Amino acid sequence: MNYDHIVVRYGELSLKGKNRRHFESQLFETVKKKLKPFPALKAMKAFDRINIDLNGEDYSPVVKKLQEVFGIHAISLAVKSENDLEMIKAAALEAFRKANTGPGTFKISARRAYKHFPVGSQELNREVGAHILINTENITVDVHKPDIDVRIEVKENATYISCITFPGAGGLPVGVGGKAMLMLSGGIDSPVAGYLTLKRGVRIEGLHFHSPPFTSERAKQKVVDLTQELTRFGGKIKLHVVHFTEIQKIIKDKIPASYSMTIMRRVMLRIAEQIAEKNNAMAIANGENLGQVASQTMHSMYAINEVTNMPILRPVITMDKIEIVDIAQKIGTFDISIRPYEDCCTIFLPSAPKTKPKREKAIRFEQYIENLDELVARAVEQAETIFLDENKTTEEFSDLF
Ligand code: ATP
Ligand code: MG
Repeated sequence: MNYDHIVVRYGELSLKGKNRRHFESQLFETVKKKLKPFPALKAMKAFDRINIDLNGEDYSPVVKKLQEVFGIHAISLAVKSENDLEMIKAAALEAFRKANTGPGTFKISARRAYKHFPVGSQELNREVGAHILINTENITVDVHKPDIDVRIEVKENATYISCITFPGAGGLPVGVGGKAMLMLSGGIDSPVAGYLTLKRGVRIEGLHFHSPPFTSERAKQKVVDLTQELTRFGGKIKLHVVHFTEIQKIIKDKIPASYSMTIMRRVMLRIAEQIAEKNNAMAIANGENLGQVASQTMHSMYAINEVTNMPILRPVITMDKIEIVDIAQKIGTFDISIRPYEDCCTIFLPSAPKTKPKREKAIRFEQYIENLDELVARAVEQAETIFLDENKTTEEFSDLF
């Protein structure tokens, strides 16, 4: 016997009352897109889950893909049986044997969603439990913390039995929570911030500032590759690349060195806000973290943040570096992030920017750049857009955005 089905469970979704239907259909669409590389599979929406008919496909690559979908709480391997007590007992025993590795405990969790099935869930628990006990050595029942939970779900057309469950990614389905403009450097933190933003159901677009020829094509490619990784969790993602050289040169010429970083960030944020508005994003997300270096102090944040009224999501703000690195490794962005590259933000900047910049001074110094609004508008207008998707290349689908 092989596992012929996968049962996808939602978790947090079931709590969401009125929004529930919207959440579920968003998730179902995402799951269908995710399973495109496996055309033989058939996904079916049930009341509070998705059943996937494997149609002979190996389950493990499918489970891997599903583990990248936010909104999924658990993924169970299942066998399908006809709605017949003897067949259910036989199938449950077989499924149990595949999962059982030695002495241990188990329980049966039967649910009769199809009320016309003549055997009730309590009776199913007893009947199937007894059948497994009689036919297996060295096992006992533990209804509280069993090693193996044999789940039986009786639906109208069939019964699904599962013993092996993998954790899902959790969170909410991407697309139910609006859109944020993610400021993406080539570093470790911002892709993790993007991942965590997606996890709360928020769609993202990427925004990268680069300064050719001071930063290379390779540095830009790195950000493209990072965005590509994020498409595994976020589906289609637009990446905006802003040419920042002209503005950085002006900042270097006109602003006292100790404030050039603060002013540069303020300008970046202004551009981010405008690109966000232009693309219907309601927030900016970034990889800022409270730390010791100049760009990461609360003073610095205070002096920079005021240029926008847009909410700024900072998902990694309180994390330790080690926690961020952990996530980066888990989601596959770490190895890309550590490739050597030139950072547009550091290339023009003094080695010791102010760790406690003053807001009033930042405002005053900023006025040394007379045509700031114009420079910002031009940067927004001239931004380049790159389209990324998990399963396709740019040319194939750019018209779909
Ligand atoms: P990261 O690891 O994401 O680079 P960091 O710890 O190096 O972050 P900073 O360099 O101070 O911190 O940058 C803080 C945040 O500002 C970044 O996480 C990113 O969101 C944004 N940012 C910095 N440089 C750029 C850039 N060149 N393009 C777009 N966003 C940037
Ligand atoms: Mg950085």
